[in-house]
Amino acid sequence: MAPRHVVFELAESADVTRLSDYERAGGYESLRKALAMEPAQVIEELLASGLRGRGGAGFPMGRKASFLPKPDQTPKPIYLAVNADESEPGTFKDREIMLRVPHQVIEGILISSYAIQARAAFVYIRGEYLTEYEVLRTALEEALDRGLVGANILGSGYSVTIVLHRGAGAYICGEETGLLESLEGKRGQPRTKPPFPAIAGLYAAPTLINNVETLATVPRILALGGENYAKLGVENSSGTRVFSLSGNVARPGNYELELGMSLRDLIVGIGGGVPGGRQLKAVIPGGSSTPVLTADELDTRLDFDSMARAGTMLGSGAVIVIDDRCCMVQLALRVAQFYRHESCGKCTPCREGTRWMVEIIRRIEQGAAGQGELDLLLNVCDRILGRCLCPLGDAAAMPVASYVAKFRSEFQRHIDEGGCPFRGTSSLEGVLAPVDEHHARARARIEVPA
Ligand code: SF4
Repeated sequence: MAPRHVVFELAESADVTRLSDYERAGGYESLRKALAMEPAQVIEELLASGLRGRGGAGFPMGRKASFLPKPDQTPKPIYLAVNADESEPGTFKDREIMLRVPHQVIEGILISSYAIQARAAFVYIRGEYLTEYEVLRTALEEALDRGLVGANILGSGYSVTIVLHRGAGAYICGEETGLLESLEGKRGQPRTKPPFPAIAGLYAAPTLINNVETLATVPRILALGGENYAKLGVENSSGTRVFSLSGNVARPGNYELELGMSLRDLIVGIGGGVPGGRQLKAVIPGGSSTPVLTADELDTRLDFDSMARAGTMLGSGAVIVIDDRCCMVQLALRVAQFYRHESCGKCTPCREGTRWMVEIIRRIEQGAAGQGELDLLLNVCDRILGRCLCPLGDAAAMPVASYVAKFRSEFQRHIDEGGCPFRGTSSLEGVLAPVDEHHARARARIEVPA
């Protein structure tokens, strides 16, 4: 029977951080297998697997890799950029993957680099992830010593360098072109597209960009074969996914599940449901940027198509559980403040719109908003949606618009009653850390001497 765990299969009982342990468990066998194949055959396996990007956008990895020119079709070097800048609020899976199975990430990087014939791979790791960086660096040094990285890997004739690069704590550098700008030493701001990174990415050279979980899945795809991997999950959403479960739930954590299970399976069956006898109020299904679902939508399936039919997204796989103590206006304020803070300011609808959103929501929350300001808020959201240079604008507007759509009466009561109807009893405990706390923690982590 096919394994249920793909990413964490080797680390179900204990972390596998040392090379010797990883190799004993079959690690780097997929790399050997890949190196014995033609690069185009490796891409065929990725295409057959149906693997879709695990970072948020969900674009099929094999197709993305197939867009790059072959080495004899371009005078430029080809690069792989690894997005380890996990920053979407509520998401904490890539950090655990790097901590627990760092060699699996490296093996996935090597196989993917070989598939596109990359000369170098750059891992852009979130600045606050200092421990993860050190674990990955140690693993990379081991792999270098063993001849798994660098010149003439395992005598195959293929050579690739892997470079670790620490970010400096900007959410926007998780956007793929913002990441490339930052890697080049520039201010981390998204680029206009086209050209797309597959044609003109890092240093204007063809670049494939994938996130950590996506790449950590690649060794298992080679081991199982693309067609066998595609039998896991459901149509259009093959394989497994690591879900970061947080908020008001009894057993928060990262859980790897086959795609197609329901939110109820995850939240109630695995996560133990809402603790303390409280009621489930809402669920954010894919990170703070995704539209909210209500308790009535708990049977929605965790796959790309089911989420789209429900008007939301699988996003980064961060499932945030919200109980009945939560004031949705306060939650909207917290989300809007985050995106206003992280807006890079390059385009007007996002830079100005997120500021307007915060100001209006704050007035509603304080009971100082007039009738009509709720519609003004929706109008501002509408003027952001689809009008920005990168997805951050939509990421700010979509969730807030969904909170108003599904909990309009709660917003309206703030206006009608001149304040929060919870009368000081509301709580966002455990639901998305506020911006100030987030950055205080980030600073504390960055200041640890390397
Ligand atoms: Fe910058 Fe926001 Fe425009 Fe993205 S949408 S480029 S973050 S201002």
